[in-house]
Amino acid sequence: MKSHTRVLVIGGGVVGCSVLYHLAKAGWTDITLIERAELTAGSTWHAAGGFHTLNGDPNVAKLQQYTVELYREIEALSGQSCGLHLTGGVMLAGTKERMDWLKMAHAKGRYLGMHTEIISAAEAKKLMPLIDEKQFAGAMYDPLEGHLDPYGTTHAYAKSAKILGAEIVLRNRVVDMAQREDGSWDVITEHGSIQAEHVVNCGGLWARECGRMVGLELPVLAMEHMYFLTEDMPEVAEINAATGKEVITALDFEGEIYMRQERGGMLLGTYEQACKPWSEKETPWDFGQNLLEPDLDRIAPSLEVGFRHFPAFENAGIRRVINGPFTFAPDGNPLVGPIRGLRNYWVACGVMAGFSQGGGVGLALSNWMVHGDPGFDVWGMDVARYGDWTTLSHTNAKVRENYARRFRIRFPNEELPAARPFRTTPVYDRLESHNAVFGDMNGLEHALWFAPSRAEARDEFSFRRSNDFPHVAAESAAVREGVGLLEISNFAKYEISGKGAEAWLDTILPNRLPARGRMVLTPMLNENGMLIGDFTLAREADDRFMIFGSGLAEQYHMRWFQAHLPEAGVTLRAHGLDLVGLQIAGPKSRELLARLVDADLTKEAFPFMAVGRFNVGILPALIGRVTYTGDLGYEIWVKPEHQRALFDLLMQEGAGLGIRLFGGRALNSLRLEKSFGSWSREYRPIYTPWEAGLERFVSTQKSDFIGRDALLRARDEGPRRRLATFVVDALDADVIGDEPIWLDGKVVGWVTSGGYAHHAKASVALGYVEAAAFDASAPYEVEIIGDRRPARVAPEPLFDPKGLRMRG
Ligand SMILES: Cc1cc2nc3c(=O)[nH]c(=O)nc-3n(C[C@H](O)[C@H](O)[C@H](O)COP(=O)(O)OP(=O)(O)OC[C@H]3O[C@@H](n4cnc5c(N)ncnc54)[C@H](O)[C@@H]3O)c2cc1C
Repeated sequence: MKSHTRVLVIGGGVVGCSVLYHLAKAGWTDITLIERAELTAGSTWHAAGGFHTLNGDPNVAKLQQYTVELYREIEALSGQSCGLHLTGGVMLAGTKERMDWLKMAHAKGRYLGMHTEIISAAEAKKLMPLIDEKQFAGAMYDPLEGHLDPYGTTHAYAKSAKILGAEIVLRNRVVDMAQREDGSWDVITEHGSIQAEHVVNCGGLWARECGRMVGLELPVLAMEHMYFLTEDMPEVAEINAATGKEVITALDFEGEIYMRQERGGMLLGTYEQACKPWSEKETPWDFGQNLLEPDLDRIAPSLEVGFRHFPAFENAGIRRVINGPFTFAPDGNPLVGPIRGLRNYWVACGVMAGFSQGGGVGLALSNWMVHGDPGFDVWGMDVARYGDWTTLSHTNAKVRENYARRFRIRFPNEELPAARPFRTTPVYDRLESHNAVFGDMNGLEHALWFAPSRAEARDEFSFRRSNDFPHVAAESAAVREGVGLLEISNFAKYEISGKGAEAWLDTILPNRLPARGRMVLTPMLNENGMLIGDFTLAREADDRFMIFGSGLAEQYHMRWFQAHLPEAGVTLRAHGLDLVGLQIAGPKSRELLARLVDADLTKEAFPFMAVGRFNVGILPALIGRVTYTGDLGYEIWVKPEHQRALFDLLMQEGAGLGIRLFGGRALNSLRLEKSFGSWSREYRPIYTPWEAGLERFVSTQKSDFIGRDALLRARDEGPRRRLATFVVDALDADVIGDEPIWLDGKVVGWVTSGGYAHHAKASVALGYVEAAAFDASAPYEVEIIGDRRPARVAPEPLFDPKGLRMRG
């Protein structure tokens, strides 16, 4: 083993080998992979080897497509077969809801360039004769499905990496590591130490242990998973003889079953409800290529459904049962990227579908390391979507929930119940006593809407408008006609101070900084001029600023801020729940606040985008005159110990003005009729400010800020797409996000978010359309649950296009 390497990859499973290959392919060849035992010795060797492109997140689906298409490349380079069987596959729906879900998945696939097809149960039977078609409502066919040899594939990655110059060291465990002042790592192994400029944790089943070596607790847990292999089946032989082909793969959502042909029989696996975590606290280092004790009782309920849906299995003998562990993150997607505050330490773990996702993970991570950016939208698998707020037991509850729901539908209005409540704010009980229905964001409870009674405070899950509809309408009306109160503690709040604060912010943000006592809206850009943030920036003093942004992205933004912070002169603090907030909005909000604040709040004295410190009653608060409702309104920030008192004060004083609580769903409805975009939907790192309609918030006059050169180039080249607001002629369902936008029978764009704008009485979709296909008067269509609905571009916001209300 050498003494120095540019990158040290820990772990020779399919993911580590893919990372190694992609780094070598990108030109970083002084790289080393260290494997504790043999390649594949973690969860990789006993995988069922199935692959598919389906994923709830279209960007992850795209990476899965890349992975499947990569196998020919590594086979050709390495000369090592991956044992590919590209059979195609059917995903079988037993219910109308599941069929709706498949239609939506198929629609998403269209703009990703995928070639899936919606087919009837009878057509599915022709493709996959083992099914009893009476059990199914229909199916989706995907030609990019199949299975492979896990061992051969891992070795194909490894050999390809070696051909390009990478080194692989086997039978040597990494036992510890320590960081040097220059940011490089001394990695201690069983056979000596090696200095590495970067370390990548691809530890798979041991990713947690490798994280703990640097004080990191990764939200990953291994689950036991079973599949069995049957003896040869005559029905399989018949299909093979009749078609001259292998039986295609099948996924049965209701049975929670997947299957494929294995030699003359079948392989059948299931995600059972009675699921079982493995090595909950610590993975033993002496776990080798072992299997776990099978427990067929646990999977018996799925098998019963399976026998009904695939009658031939009833007579099939079971040749072998495999039970092995593999890891999951709480939401089932991988954890990839750099870790906030840990220089030169990267992770690629929690990859539960290594043969569908491993290639995409390797590509994203290698891009990130070599070019400073993953190169495409990887938010769905960015490790920064979790933070130090998770605990071992929170992860455990969420992973079990995710596993048991692996093949379940998640409705757009469905909040998952495990591990809740986990984080609450002081007004949680107050909101609950007003019949709040809560949502979970990063483990934090926040009100979605308010029901008339406790008994009615639950969502009826649906792809269509549901029981919250009239109540969200009433909340929206209260804001537009009087005054509404919303808790906003789930926003991120960062304080930036010090003598270097102004200069630093000027470099990382493209907008001009506000004057004292004022706020501006500003995006944040990466070096490629792409959107990586969307903030309200407030200036309290010459050297003190606040940034308000998406709570969802707090870790993501803190990672960026910290990585770009100068060595001295700037103090950065994420307030988290040390600063909590309430917002009042609507035409009567000034009157309400003026009753409680002993200061001049007139339009002249405290105008739109003003910020200041006031006492609200006896409570010290930071108040900004802006809200996401697009109405007159105020964000009021206080310390947690004051939040209940503030809530009571506003509710008491507001009673005479008809104050009404509103939740996140009404806020969404209100922002849609203002055409306000939101982070992670309209604003993501695949769009430029020119495309997103944020050009008025970038100041190209400023001589220097991150992303400026790329931004100017993008402006000169012209936008590739444009964000537009559509009014959709919807029936009983509105868009959710990711639906295709059609024009003249072609898909010309995709929806980023939408819903019903109650005050404007319109079904609204925000989405991007290819620049060449953009025509404000064209007859677009937006596909909602398989139905193309007419849609027209709204040339200006549906509510208060001149902004007179919020400025008033
Ligand atoms: C029964 C079963 C069926 C499955 N079926 C499928 C399927 O059909 N399709 C699919 O895509 N996925 C399937 N999977 C999941 C798949 O196996 C995983 O997604 C994949 O193996 C993850 O690979 P990895 O490289 O992240 O982890 P691992 O395979 O666990 O690799 C991690 C490696 O790191 C090494 N290591 C850890 N710590 C150290 C250290 N400190 N020093 C040196 N080396 C270290 C380990 O020895 C190990 O080799 C299945 C899994 C199971 C258990």
